[in-house]
Amino acid sequence: MNKEENELVVEKKERIPSKKILEILHSLYPDAHCELNFSTPFQLLIATILSAQTTDIKVNEVTRTLFAKYPTAHDYLTLSQEELEAEIRTIGLYKSKSKHILATCHILVEKYNGEVPKTREELEALPGVGRKTANVVLSNAFGIPAIAVDTHVFRVGNRLRLAKSDHVLETEEQLMKRIPKKLWSDAHHWLIWHGRRVCHARSPKCTNCELLPYCRFGKQEVKK
Ligand code: SF4
Repeated sequence: MNKEENELVVEKKERIPSKKILEILHSLYPDAHCELNFSTPFQLLIATILSAQTTDIKVNEVTRTLFAKYPTAHDYLTLSQEELEAEIRTIGLYKSKSKHILATCHILVEKYNGEVPKTREELEALPGVGRKTANVVLSNAFGIPAIAVDTHVFRVGNRLRLAKSDHVLETEEQLMKRIPKKLWSDAHHWLIWHGRRVCHARSPKCTNCELLPYCRFGKQEVKK
């Protein structure tokens, strides 16, 4: 048997207790929710565009003022790129984010009367909106089941073997197969909350983690 065939056999034998893992995550984070502040689908879209490579805390600091001054897509049409940059300059990548936000607002006003479209295709066609952002908006603004794979979902999902992939899209597909559809949005929050609070990228708190009995990665970590 070659190495590849052997890995396949091992993988088939590996039973992932996904039901138990999801039950524990649910019990740990029964109130898990999106930690970006927003009042409308439009504000969630803008907050999510702003959140790339920065923290939700930082985004919330900026949007507290930004959304008070400019709550709708129409309001951004009065802004130059330099003016928007000045509003969000404490956030990383503020120049490209300003450009994308203004271009997105123009499309929203011209094509959707200022509203946010509800399909993945339409969302992903907006400047600065990729699959992850589209999934965040679909699930959190419109209640459409989706799993947005950010850095936490990717890391924790793979450590728990709910997925086994080096690629974001493949991880999302595997999570969608392993997690019941009605739990996709909740599970997405559970994995993020666990990643932020316990399963850190460096030095995960495995010895204090209730998932340790079901986590091969964690068992290897505590042996080190
Ligand atoms: S046992 Fe460790 S690696 Fe596994 S989920 Fe918990 S913190 Fe993460």
